[in-house]
Amino acid sequence: MMPGVINQHSSGAPLLRVRGLDLDFGSPRGRVHALRGVSLDVSAGEVVGIVGESGSGKSTLAYTLMGLLAENAEVTGGEILFEGRDLLRMAPAARRDLLGNRLSMIFQDPMTGLNPVRTIERQMIDAQHHQPGSRREKRDRAVAMLARVGIPDPQSRIGGYPHEFSGGMRQRICIAMALLVRPALLIADEPTTALDATLEVQIIHLLKDLQKEIGCSILFVSHHLGTVAELCDQVAVMYAGEVIEHGPVRDIFRNPAHPYTRALLECDPGRIRQKTRLLPTIPGEVPGLVGSQRGCIFRQRCGYAFAPCADERPAEYSVGAAQGARCHLLAPTSGVPA
Ligand code: SF4
Repeated sequence: MMPGVINQHSSGAPLLRVRGLDLDFGSPRGRVHALRGVSLDVSAGEVVGIVGESGSGKSTLAYTLMGLLAENAEVTGGEILFEGRDLLRMAPAARRDLLGNRLSMIFQDPMTGLNPVRTIERQMIDAQHHQPGSRREKRDRAVAMLARVGIPDPQSRIGGYPHEFSGGMRQRICIAMALLVRPALLIADEPTTALDATLEVQIIHLLKDLQKEIGCSILFVSHHLGTVAELCDQVAVMYAGEVIEHGPVRDIFRNPAHPYTRALLECDPGRIRQKTRLLPTIPGEVPGLVGSQRGCIFRQRCGYAFAPCADERPAEYSVGAAQGARCHLLAPTSGVPA
């Protein structure tokens, strides 16, 4: 945990603690096990990245934390403790009260978070409904926040509608709106994926600066390892609905322990030193998640698979002080060099 942050949970426990979270989607083909035994901590003032390919469950996890799930979704096990309270067992009204207050979210598509038929002014004032102050004071706060995120001439632009702004400006407005309430935790679901590389860098720097100013925690969902390395303190690597490795960003990038994490890093264009026309990929596809799964979820694509991988789900093994990974190779008794 970082010193000097303002959102330290008083008991000393992590701000967010997810334990054994299971989530299914009902489908005509059967139950899709989209999250399986997910555990994760986010401490106060910390930026935690969730990284993985499409279909890894990272966005599903973000939406589950926010309670924004489709009707066919069902949490079948686990707990989500936020500031010591289990969100899954909280009365709906109490949970709604946290949203846009202690918990905020920014989405991949800024239009998901903005109402196209309301002015930015109205939306930013409404976003402060938990905050004290007159309408005038709330407007002033909104204008100041727009200026802070780099919207030019915010005094007059605040009267505009979302479609009057570019994609990058809209994402800045979403960040302003999400942080205006000074949340304890900001959940950012691939907020830079729809932007070009230059804008992506600008938005990451902006998020980094604002996170330090406000002292909030961020759970940052991304498929882009370079962005996670730039922004995050900790990272959880997800594959097919499971967290297969987690730890400090520095340790995971220097010493990835799980074969999937290693493969992901080898495919990252930012880490490829030699000139190449063909970017490497991980052979195979993320497995379907309908029905029960046996053994290691990565075994069909793993070049290191050996006998136990087909039948036994790997336990989590410690790799150094704060890093852990789910792979039989890491078992002290495996006898196979990792
Ligand atoms: Fe590969 Fe087996 Fe480790 Fe899974 S448990 S990642 S299949 S070696």
